[in-house]
Amino acid sequence: MGRIVLENVTKKFGDLEVIPPLNLTIEDGEFVVFVGPSGCGKSTLLRLIAGLEEVTSGRILIDGEDVTNIPPSKRGLAMVFQTYALYPHMSVRKNIAFPLRMAGMNEAEQNTRIEAAATALNLTDYLDRKPGQLSGGQRQRVAIGRAIVRDPTAFLFDEPLSNLDAALRVGMRLEISEMHKKLKTTMIYVTHDQVEAMTMADKIVVLQSGRVEQVGSPLDLYREPRNAFVAGFIGSPK
Ligand code: ADP
Ligand code: MG
Repeated sequence: MGRIVLENVTKKFGDLEVIPPLNLTIEDGEFVVFVGPSGCGKSTLLRLIAGLEEVTSGRILIDGEDVTNIPPSKRGLAMVFQTYALYPHMSVRKNIAFPLRMAGMNEAEQNTRIEAAATALNLTDYLDRKPGQLSGGQRQRVAIGRAIVRDPTAFLFDEPLSNLDAALRVGMRLEISEMHKKLKTTMIYVTHDQVEAMTMADKIVVLQSGRVEQVGSPLDLYREPRNAFVAGFIGSPK
């Protein structure tokens, strides 16, 4: 389960309306990419879904339940940021287990989940290392592992690869796509990178100034862009 519905959601920061009334449905199990230029409201939209920002008006539903006024920790979502704040003194295993220990889960259940996450992310050989002994890509995988073990209803990624170099980014894209195939969990992935959007998404949401310009599969958007903005954005990566 992981169907997310935004109903007439708006967000203002003071007088600045960052998100005008927005309606969007994300189906269970979809890999949805929010793409658009810097400052168009991608992070804000993700933070509204996560509950890290309050909507100014409108409703957010997860699997039919109105979560608009429910705190982030109770929404069942896991957020992965571009900066992976791992604990340097803890092993990979302990880093991944951290949210489970905080939730008071017993050790046997913790270990089952850690093994499953490590397998999904090819981290089995690294569980006893410290973050300082890992590459950037491996560290990002640990950060994703920490999200996986919580068995979330959906994953929310905010430009998770933008701190990695180009070669590593390509590899991590494949790994995240692979992970989606294995877990079949809803994923919302924010990026300003058109190539990332076109190669990873089941469904792309093109945003401009907080508005949804078009929603469709990569092929739909490529073949039938609704307007010049979408055509330019999808057609000519900067
Ligand atoms: P993106 O992630 O697409 O680059 P953001 O969602 O970060 O865009 O920002 C969208 C707009 O909202 C920008 O104009 C930004 O300056 C503004 N904004 C974001 N967060 C805040 C905030 N906490 N207070 C005021 N303005 C904000
Ligand atoms: Mg952003």
